[in-house]
Amino acid sequence: MKAMLLTETGPVSEGRDSLVLREVPDPEPRQGEVLVRVAACGVCHTELDEIEGRTPPRRLPMIPGHQVVGEVVAQGAGVTGMDNGTRVGVAWIFSACGHCEHCVAGDENLCSEFCATGRDANGGYAEYMTVPAAFAHEIPECFTDAEAAPLLCAGAVGYRSLRLAGIRNGMRLGLTGFGASGHLVMMMVRHRYPDTEVYVFARQREERDFALQSGAAWAGDTRETAPAKLHAIIDTTPAWLPVIKALENLEPGGRLVVNAIRKEDTDRQQLLGLDYPRHLWMEKEVKSVANVTRRDVREFLDLAAGIPMRPVVETYALGEANRALIDLKMKHVRGAKVLCAR
Ligand SMILES: [Zn+2]
Ligand SMILES: [Zn+2]
Repeated sequence: MKAMLLTETGPVSEGRDSLVLREVPDPEPRQGEVLVRVAACGVCHTELDEIEGRTPPRRLPMIPGHQVVGEVVAQGAGVTGMDNGTRVGVAWIFSACGHCEHCVAGDENLCSEFCATGRDANGGYAEYMTVPAAFAHEIPECFTDAEAAPLLCAGAVGYRSLRLAGIRNGMRLGLTGFGASGHLVMMMVRHRYPDTEVYVFARQREERDFALQSGAAWAGDTRETAPAKLHAIIDTTPAWLPVIKALENLEPGGRLVVNAIRKEDTDRQQLLGLDYPRHLWMEKEVKSVANVTRRDVREFLDLAAGIPMRPVVETYALGEANRALIDLKMKHVRGAKVLCAR
């Protein structure tokens, strides 16, 4: 099969092919796994971190891609109830041990043996991939392959963040940063919590305009103070300043949910501005989001189908993955980038 391989980490830039198109043996489904013929695979910011070496893959070469939609075409031993032709999605969670205290409690995202698709196991930048059948998710019929792909990461992680924010209808919610995930969270909030006002903090004018068009009650710069205190804020930025500012904008007892896989070291001195009475006192909470569970992915797909949520997508051929990564990094075009097989 054809696959886009990451053979060494390094900067994603014009004139340098981060991934190489290679012919590799078709993967074979092992015990409990299914073989999926990939129809679409989303391109995610986390892959830039992986390819550029900030969160490197477990081994090289690796096939990236953790927002995969395709059709089951073969089963390994012991697989039942997932026939050929079933349309499935594969998300960031590729597998977890299933028996540690976190897995047993339903927090498989915290498992020490958590395997991430496209980082710890080959992902969907290829014509085929294998995945444990128990970690493949049926895709609701209302979505095309390309529409469903970006929902599997930005959508599912956004859903988990919103769940951890713990708001009820009518509470005020803040979002710092307004990218793919923020936009999807906004749609979920408007559907599930219609009386909740959303306040958006974003550095770029275009992001703020986009937030207001999407239904934000207010949008301002990350340095600004919101016109009302907020019950919860979800931070999706890679910087520290928005964390400090968000704490200042919280209601007493409010919760900040940090949905970021890493924060920039160069920005760390902002933490020196942390002032206990202003930022943390009054029982404010800070919580991070790590990975996703199968429950997050499945509940989110149901919710997304009920709205229905239609992400704006821009498609590329598999062999154009390097172009898609550069466009993503340079923010060339709005809309989720998706590699399509046909
Ligand atoms: Zn992702
Ligand atoms: Zn476990």
